[in-house]
Amino acid sequence: MAENYKEIEVTCPVCSKSKDIKIPEQIFSQKRFGNIRIQVPQGGVCPEHQFILFIDTKGIIRGYENIDLQLVSAPKGEKESGGFTLRDFVLIFGLYGVFCLIHAKIFNYPAYVIKNKDTEEISELINRIGNALLPGAYKNTSTITFLEKTDYSKIQLKEKNALLMDDNLNILQTPWKVKLKFEEEIVKDALEILDDNEQLKLIQLAISAFIRQAEYAKDLLEKVKIIYNEDLVEKINRELLESKVNLYRVSLIKDFIRQRYSPKLADKIKNKVEEFLNLI
Ligand SMILES: [Zn+2]
Repeated sequence: MAENYKEIEVTCPVCSKSKDIKIPEQIFSQKRFGNIRIQVPQGGVCPEHQFILFIDTKGIIRGYENIDLQLVSAPKGEKESGGFTLRDFVLIFGLYGVFCLIHAKIFNYPAYVIKNKDTEEISELINRIGNALLPGAYKNTSTITFLEKTDYSKIQLKEKNALLMDDNLNILQTPWKVKLKFEEEIVKDALEILDDNEQLKLIQLAISAFIRQAEYAKDLLEKVKIIYNEDLVEKINRELLESKVNLYRVSLIKDFIRQRYSPKLADKIKNKVEEFLNLI
């Protein structure tokens, strides 16, 4: 399949420098997924910033999202032989791609990655690492499936609520509405550690802490009819040591319970403002 490109003028949302970038034509040949997110790496448009570009299937730019995080080229520490690090992950999938994969893994969304490069031999490894990030009972759920390089317009996914991306920094479909602040935060904290081997461990700890909060909320919801999100924030922070839960975190907990346990249980978490709006 010959690669044709479409040139699009992109302006950096931070410093307003602009540059034409080449986007593979086949990204636009798919019409099923609507808006696409393209990760523009540092140096892609301007030397300093990286961001996400929202683009529709006609190639019209619909919006931007900044990524504040930067991958500093720290000197590589001593690496265990064959060790695959967070840094390697980011180099293949981009920061935002890594956030998406971690999110899919935690929240049990099926994930598909279209292979353009030679990612074959790492597909098993990626799943192994993904499972290692999750605590016991959650391992081996939400598999990341690698698809052979294919015509993008012919992709049919079994599940509608799946993540679909490629290994060329393009995100074709995300099934969630939440922002990936949690993932950005834990990846940022991990990348600040110089020891490559400790980085994935830190992410694992942060995910375990989140899941403990979600499980606590789940047990609580089984005993009550409804609970307001603000009350849930207060309760978790009071009952679970070292928890600093806020409303954003509660929206994640709600999604976790919906995706992994029961939508009915998740719906018991009510938003006072929404309830009021429903009444009028
Ligand atoms: Zn810039």
